[in-house]
Amino acid sequence: MQKLLIQLDSDKHPSAFDGITAYDAGVDHVLAYGGVGVDDVRNLVYGAMFTRGGDALKNSAIFIGGSSVQAGERMLKAATDAFFGPVRVSVMADPNGANTTAAAAVLKIIRATSVAGKGAAIFAGTGPVGVRAATLLAKEGARVVLTSRSLARAQQAAQDIKERFGLDVIPLEVSDEQAVARALDGAAVALAAGAAGVQLVSKAVWVAQPVLEVVADINAVPPLGIEGIKATDDGKPRDGKLAFGALGIGGLKMKIHRAAVARLFEQNDLVLDVEEIYAIGKAL
Ligand code: NAP
Repeated sequence: MQKLLIQLDSDKHPSAFDGITAYDAGVDHVLAYGGVGVDDVRNLVYGAMFTRGGDALKNSAIFIGGSSVQAGERMLKAATDAFFGPVRVSVMADPNGANTTAAAAVLKIIRATSVAGKGAAIFAGTGPVGVRAATLLAKEGARVVLTSRSLARAQQAAQDIKERFGLDVIPLEVSDEQAVARALDGAAVALAAGAAGVQLVSKAVWVAQPVLEVVADINAVPPLGIEGIKATDDGKPRDGKLAFGALGIGGLKMKIHRAAVARLFEQNDLVLDVEEIYAIGKAL
């Protein structure tokens, strides 16, 4: 029986990236829907639920993408709300690549050094990738500081993490070099999670941090979030620290994405959100 992936995308055109990755993960056919609103999800999911019964249900699965992470989160809820009893199919959410990217960044970091009990500063951590990376690092036992240009936004992100995952992260406003240095004080890990093309941490500041072990950055667009590293760095020693750039992290992100899609077809009741996708990456 063919493995069919139903791709639900809130953008006008369903992501070619997600479609190609699905085929590379071994999917036989992708049914891609663009411009999907939350109200459209239930009927599209019913199409997967009511066609192949019993054990064959695992050959149909749902992928939720799109550039809006908030829309993707609502679509995931709508999809899981449509299921009942054993009549369900596996579903993965990775809107804007946020789950796979955060998982890859944190896995690179924890494979470079143990983070439990150590400080980790997530710069511009208020975006979808930053919030997820902060969550995963806190789950690994790091003492996470999450920065923003606005204290209120950092506090909101910290509150969201507390409410959803029961984890504490420390919000911090960072608007100048002194504040960057304060965020890094005692940190073993610096992760830049800011918007594309925005430098957040200057080289002079990070090289001067004595206990800093790892600098990582998920922005591939110059200028990079962390000055003095390269996007291709994949554990490259730089000034006594190990550096990871967006492309170095991106290779693992692709592996995690493909592995997670492949897992969808092993059973019919998986829900792959950030924690489950991270666990799949960890097992690779
Ligand atoms: P985002 O939401 O676009 O931005 C993250 C944070 O950056 C924002 O919440 C904002 O924080 C801060 N920011 C925005 N403009 C800024 C500016 N001009 N100066 C300083 N800070 C600014 O980011 P995201 O979607 O989470 O993605 C994070 C990074 O990962 C991006 O660079 C993106 O390109 C990259 N990414 C890569 C992949 C991949 O597959 N490799 C996938 C997804 C994302 P405050 O307003 O709170 O300061």
